[in-house]
This record gives sequence, structure tokens and C-alpha cells, in this order.
Amino acid sequence: MTWHLAHCGAVMSFPELFPPDIGLSITAVTVTPDVIAFAALTTAATASCPCCAQSSTRVHSRYARTAADLPWQGRRVILRVTARRFRCATAGCKRTIFCERVPTLAPHARTTTRLTDAHRLIGFALGGEAGSRLGARLALPTSPDTLLRRVKSAPLPAHPTPRVLGVDDFAFRKGVNYGTILIDLERRCVVDLLPDRTAEALGAWFRQHPGAQVVSRDRASAYAQAVTTAAPTAIQVADRFHLLMNVREVAERALARHTTAVRNALRTDEVATAPVEVPPPAPAVECLLTPRQQVATGRREHRRQRYEDARRLHDQGQSIRAIARALRISRGMLINYLRTGHVADWRPGRTAPSQLDVHRAYIDRRVGEGCCNARELHRELGARGYTGGYDQVRRAIRRRTDRDGRSRARGPIPIRSEIPTARRLSFEVMRRPDQRKEQAAGWVDRLRTAGGAVQATIELAERFGALVRERRADGLGEWLSRADASGLAEFGGLARSIRQDEAAVRAGLSEAWSNGPVEGRVNRLKLIKRSMYGRAGFALLKARVLNTG
Ligand SMILES: [Zn+2]
Repeated sequence: MTWHLAHCGAVMSFPELFPPDIGLSITAVTVTPDVIAFAALTTAATASCPCCAQSSTRVHSRYARTAADLPWQGRRVILRVTARRFRCATAGCKRTIFCERVPTLAPHARTTTRLTDAHRLIGFALGGEAGSRLGARLALPTSPDTLLRRVKSAPLPAHPTPRVLGVDDFAFRKGVNYGTILIDLERRCVVDLLPDRTAEALGAWFRQHPGAQVVSRDRASAYAQAVTTAAPTAIQVADRFHLLMNVREVAERALARHTTAVRNALRTDEVATAPVEVPPPAPAVECLLTPRQQVATGRREHRRQRYEDARRLHDQGQSIRAIARALRISRGMLINYLRTGHVADWRPGRTAPSQLDVHRAYIDRRVGEGCCNARELHRELGARGYTGGYDQVRRAIRRRTDRDGRSRARGPIPIRSEIPTARRLSFEVMRRPDQRKEQAAGWVDRLRTAGGAVQATIELAERFGALVRERRADGLGEWLSRADASGLAEFGGLARSIRQDEAAVRAGLSEAWSNGPVEGRVNRLKLIKRSMYGRAGFALLKARVLNTG
């Protein structure tokens, strides 16, 4: 339906709907289920020439402009503005005719400035694809490309140079290329993103933005170098989180090198309570293995073979990259192999957790009593709440019986406790002791009294965690001597590298500043990066991160 307001003698500016300074008077309103269209005239008496700025009253002609505006009652709003061309009044001006500026409409724009702003905000928050979907639902439809263009064209917010700066890296693609995120630790906002993590890039930034007094950073030498050369007066603080992670990685490597000792330490109580003899696997037993066990054995053999190949090629002097490509494994895995010095195999012969685990004692008893009928046992277990399949039960019986169907066990089969990986253990060791769960606390307690290298690893790692948490820079010297004296190559190396950066590490153990708030910002950045489906150019990523955080 259309109302021609002029016919009712009511050409008006709708002061409630359109503010008077919008400079438009509405002549007609057309309403359809999806769209409200306003026909409008510009009201200004004069217009200024864009060339000589002289105002003119001489109208040359009229032309139509159409632009989308913010929606109303869930309907899209369209302005159809009849605008005017004016003659320039200045003799000799090179613009004889010019178009008037329509309020709220940028030259050539198809959307009002306020709709453009709304699109930009959606783009900042959600990016192109998701933003476009939300826009359609909110009657603000636009294409993903347009949203991204709006985001890119936004001016970057200006920040005063931070007094306390947090520096951290982030991955564009993990292991491939990295950027740098700079945070104002006092105001807790992102100040800038750099497209790489080199000393040159950060140094250039410091020269353009002098004035940082404290710089909190990880222990990567590139950042240290940049601060030392480009901001030499700034106090450098080794970030506490990164310090803890450095120690954790070292602890993981040390534990991984002493797999057997770790396993023995964690298994002691099991042996004490369940003295059941597990027959040693002999080649002849192979045929007794279930298909799944045979597959597992095969894989284990494959891993061992691959490990030995890697070792051999490495001894021949081949590069990490070449070996990784030849063996088709990741470089990370290869480095792990060479570092640990044995096949990464923590739980040989472990069985996957199964629904039957809770019924294990019952199955043991029934098989011990001579029940080898899988169908019967499946029925009984069903009555006890088991909802799994029949095959699982059949396999469980087969594991407990020999070829003639006689029970193999001379007592309950021990429940193997889960043996955690070196990585998991290293995280548990670095955790605040009162925040360890009961099981993890048990692991750490046992490793702490295991003696030898394992005990030394746990003690060094826990001691360092305490230094960091209690901000005890005065304990660092003693810790370094202990690390040297431990005879553990991993900790010896760490002690050496800490000594090279000792002032910053001491500052990290005493200053209040830490990159804690940066981690949150890096996570937010990752979220934005993922939501852009890999089409995030650096400029776009930067625009979104700086404008939202
Ligand atoms: Zn002019």
C-alpha cells in the first residue's frame, strides 16, 4: 500500500521517524510485507560546489538515488531520494554542474551511513559468512564480501603507546607461520598485530612507538633482541606462564626419557595387590591373540620399524626435513623420536576402555564357575544393566578361557590402572598442588619418591612452580645450582638458557606484570581467525582484532 503524503497536503519530515537535520522530506510511503520504501526530497535551499565551495541556488536537473537504511519492525527500509544537480555560480570554475550531497548518504553509497556502521559492527563481531547470515535474519541483508570490505575500510583505533607492553606470538598456521600480538597490559587491550615474529618487525614497532617502560615477553630470543636494541631502557620481564611452560616441556622430555622408571613407579601398588602372573608373550601365543590384539601388535611393530629407520637415517646425517618426508611422519613426531631415544610406546598391550569394565568382576566369577556360554552371560549382564553388544561379551569370555574352553585365570584378572603419558604427567607436576585431582596427586606423590632421575625431575619442576607462584626471585640461584647438580641433561640445558636471560627471568619472578591477560587476547584472536575460514588476510584479521579487543 502506498500513501502519497503530498496528495493529503501533508508533505512532512516525520520529526519522530527522521530527525529534522536529516534534510529530507518524505513524500510517499510504500509498505509491502518485507519492505518499507520512503520517497523523499532533499530540503536544503542551496548546495555547495565541491570544487570551489561556493553555494548555489540554481537547480540544473534532478536524479534518483536509492539507498537501504536501518530496518523498521523487521522490514527492510529503502529511501528513494530525488536529489538535485546544481550549476556552479562561480565564473570559470571547472565544475559547471555538480550533484548535491544527500545527508546520511556518502557519495555513490547504496546504504545510509548508519546502515554501513551497523554492517561494520556485525563484521567486526562475526566476520563475513556468519555476519551475512545474521544480517539476513535482522533485515540487514548484505553479502559476506561487503561485510569484509566494511571491516577492512574501518579506521584502526588509535592507542596511546603503552607503558607496560605484553608481547606474544600466535600462529596463522601452527608450525608454519606466526605473527606477534602486542597488548597494553595496563589497559588490557590489543594495541597492534605484526605479520611475523622476527626481531626486525618488533624492533621497527618500538622505533615507531617509543616509550614502553616494561616489556613482558616469552623467552624467545627474537623478542629479547628486539627490546634490547630498539627499547634499551625498558625493563624486560620473562612471562611467568611461558617460564612454567618451558619447565613443563623440559620435565616432559626428562620423563619420556625414563619411561621404564616412571612405569615402574606408577605400577608398584598394582603389583602388590594383584600378584597374578601374566604369561610372557611368546611368538607361539600370537595365534591366540584376538584380531584386535593382532592389529595392535602389528602397529606396534610398524612403529618400532619406523623408529629404527628414523634413527638410522639420522645417524647417516640426513636432515630432519628429509627424514620426515621419507618416512611420511611429521617433523614434530620425528624430533620426539630422536629426543626420547626409544619408541613412543607407553602402554603396550593396553585394552581400550569398554562398557564391560564395570562388570569385570562378575564376568571373572561366572567364567571361573565354568560359564562359557556367551549368550547366557550376555543375558545375565543385560539384567545387570549392560547395554552393549553380544560380540563384546563373547570376546571377553574368549580372553578368559583357553582353547578347550577352560577358565584361564587363577584369580581375578587385575584391572590395569591407566598409565599417563609423559606429557600428561608434566602438566600435572606443574599444576598447583592443591588443584591436582586425587588420581594425579597420587601419580606425582609416587614419582616424587621414585628415586633417581624421575624423582629429581619432579622435585626440580615442583620447586620451580613454587618459585613462580610465590614470586621468589631470591630462590632462583639455588634452583639453578640444583638443576646443574641433578645430572639431567634437560634441566642442565634449561639452566644454561635461563642464565643467558637471567635478568628478565628474575624480573618475571618478582615484577607484578605478566602476560596472563594476553593469553585471553590470543584466544580471542584464534577464535576470530577460525571464524574467518582461512580467508583472513592479515589486514582483515588485524582490523577485527583491534576493533573488538
Ligand atoms: Zn564551483
